[in-house]
Amino acid sequence: MEANLAHLIRAQQVDKRLATLARRLESLPVELGERESTMAALEAEAEELESEKKACFVRSTKLENECGTREERIDKLEKTAVEARDPSAVQIAQHEAATHRQENSDAQEEALELLERADGLTVKREAMNSRLDEAKESLDAMRASVGADTADLQAEVDALNTEREGLVAEVNSTVRGVFQILAEKHPGKAVVPLKGDSCGGCGTNLTANDRVRVQGAKSMIRCPSCTRILVTQDLWSKLSEPVQ
Ligand SMILES: [Zn+2]
Repeated sequence: MEANLAHLIRAQQVDKRLATLARRLESLPVELGERESTMAALEAEAEELESEKKACFVRSTKLENECGTREERIDKLEKTAVEARDPSAVQIAQHEAATHRQENSDAQEEALELLERADGLTVKREAMNSRLDEAKESLDAMRASVGADTADLQAEVDALNTEREGLVAEVNSTVRGVFQILAEKHPGKAVVPLKGDSCGGCGTNLTANDRVRVQGAKSMIRCPSCTRILVTQDLWSKLSEPVQ
């Protein structure tokens, strides 16, 4: 029975390592996904800067064109003001020309502000380029390492599963059946050592008779309370080197 119990302890250590590996395998794509989202957010930010800059140029060009049209109108109005005989017609023409001049001055001011804003956006966009390059580089590196790490972890998982199957296959079928059920119920803690007079799993105090039977290791002894398989502290310590 001691050989059976030794196999189970080792199988249980393999299970613990498998659980760690499974968590790592799950977390890798999540970490990669987070990095990809960061990259996508940066790209969206860069695109927004570009379209804002473009909008500045479009608006400023429109303003310049409107100024040109108004200049022509002002020329005509000035001509009218000089040539008209009717004083009220002169006054109307002068007033309209003055209004257009004011509109042009406002428009030119706005166009200038827009060009300054576009310059600022260009500087911001250029600064973003280096951030984007860095993010892209680190994302590519992460993709490569996640791929390699996943393959390594999966290879270890496969090897451990094979080892576990071999270990469990050597255990007698009744003990194996009990262990499989307990391993699902108490992952990594189906087999526990005696702790003094108590069960190392649930702390229940064991009878002297049960303790002697555990020490004898002639048959599978289970805790009357939590039903875990009990082993001696000696066997436990001898075998409890964590699986690397
Ligand atoms: Zn117990």
